[in-house]
Parts: sequence; structure tokens; C-alpha cells
Amino acid sequence: MHAHNCFCNQLIGVHMSISGGWHQALLQGNKIQCTTVQIFLKNNRQWNVPKTSTTEIELFKETHVKTNIFPVAHASYLINLASPKKEIEQLSIQSLKNELKLCDQLNIPYLIIHPGSHLDDSVENGLMRISQSINKIYEETNYNCILLLETMAGQGTTLGKTFEQLGQILHTINQKNKVGVCLDTCHVFAAGYKFNTLLEYNTLLHTFNSIIGLEILKVIHINNSQKECGSFIDRHEHLHKGKISLEAFSHFLNDQKLKHIPKILETPKDQGLMSDIKNLEIIKNLLIKN
Ligand SMILES: [Zn+2]
Ligand SMILES: [Zn+2]
Repeated sequence: MHAHNCFCNQLIGVHMSISGGWHQALLQGNKIQCTTVQIFLKNNRQWNVPKTSTTEIELFKETHVKTNIFPVAHASYLINLASPKKEIEQLSIQSLKNELKLCDQLNIPYLIIHPGSHLDDSVENGLMRISQSINKIYEETNYNCILLLETMAGQGTTLGKTFEQLGQILHTINQKNKVGVCLDTCHVFAAGYKFNTLLEYNTLLHTFNSIIGLEILKVIHINNSQKECGSFIDRHEHLHKGKISLEAFSHFLNDQKLKHIPKILETPKDQGLMSDIKNLEIIKNLLIKN
């Protein structure tokens, strides 16, 4: 028995390409022993959603049952619910509705979204527009899929770099059970949060819990950061490289309070699947056998 050689008792996986179809992401994930996988539903740099066939949807659902992999989706990078430009706001809302609908069809429980950028408008107005749009979307249709706001590095006018900003959005959302949070270790580090020592980690979690609430933390992105703490620059790195120590990751990986939460790598794929295998191996070694 090599109990440490699988992720049987935790949801751990990687972001996977959907080239060849959505189901391919699950098959690829299965091949490298992932128990969860994150996908983009479509080309994440295009607005248009390609026509989807019921066959493709059925194939994904069948593969989901066969592999038993927990699927998570990440929304398009183009969506900006905080945009002061009416046209972009409308496109963003429509695009998000399409993605939520698709998640419901595919039985994907979580859709992760970057909160948005306020551009030349104020932070306050940006935050307000995000919650207004989310309220509108879920008032119109009661999607099953839960929207997860991601913690951001704070590059440019990106919103969500502090727990306070996310807390402010969440506070004004009407459908509380439809919105949660995805914490990205690279992003929170770049935004100035430290979690190297156990004390720093506990402080971070305590702050998160008091401002946002640990019960709505639904996904964790496990990424290292090329840039320093407080750099506000979003550059992912392999787990063994970058400015975050392996010890810092082990706090997240071995915390019993977070055991049920899917943990997903978005680390570089310079060696294709081999890169993922290597980073997953590091996670296996960091997990305390229990
Ligand atoms: Zn993201
Ligand atoms: Zn990032």
C-alpha cells in the first residue's frame, strides 16, 4: 500500500485544456491521477460561445461519472463586470449568463470569475457594479452553478486584491448562497498577504474568516509566484520555483479545516503534462500522511 501515492482523500488537480472536447480534460486529469480538474468552457479570449451539441454535453457527463473527477470551470478573462463602459458591461453579463447555463448543463458546480477592473472609474463604483450585475443575473435565472469570486494580485485597476474589497462585493449580493470565493495563493501573496510561517498562515486565515467567512471558500488555486510579496504582479510559477516557500503551501494542504476544498494547480505547462505531474508530485510529498 502506498497511501501517499494517490489523492484519494483530497480533491487535488490541475487546470486542463479542453482541446478535443470538454471530456478530454477529465480523461487527461484521470491519466495523471487528479481528483479534480479546472477547465475553460471555451476559448477564454473570445466573446462568442461556439454552438454546443447535446452529444458533447452527454459525453462530458458520462466521462464525469466514469472518472469521478470533481469539475470546476473558470470564466473567460474578457468578462469585466466592473467596467464603466456600457457595451463591455452588457457583453460581460451576457457572456457570464451563457457560461452559467453551460455549467448547469454540464453539472459543473462552480464557475470562477475575476471580479473585474474599475478602469478610469472609482473603486467604489466598480465594486458596486459587480454586485449589481450578479444580483441581476441570478434574479433572472436561478442557476444551480455557484459563482466564485477570485482573490486577485491587484495588477492595474483589478479589483479583489484585498479581502475587504471581496467582502464589500459579497455584502451587497442578494443571493448569498449563489456566491463564494476562490483563493489563489500566488495572487494573495502578490497582493501582500504572507503565509510562510504557521503564525502568518493562521493570521491570513483568521482575517479571511472574519471579513469573508471560511464557509464560502470553495476552491483554492495552488500556484507559486515569480514576483515578490506586495508586488501586485500576477505571474504564476512552478511550486518548487518562485517566491513562496514549500512550507507555505503545506499549511494550506494539511489544514483540516480546508480538507474538503478542491485545490487546483495553474502552474506553467512548459513541459506539457510532465509539468503537471512534477508539480503534483511536490504536493504529494507535502501532504502529511494521515
Ligand atoms: Zn483566475
Ligand atoms: Zn493569476
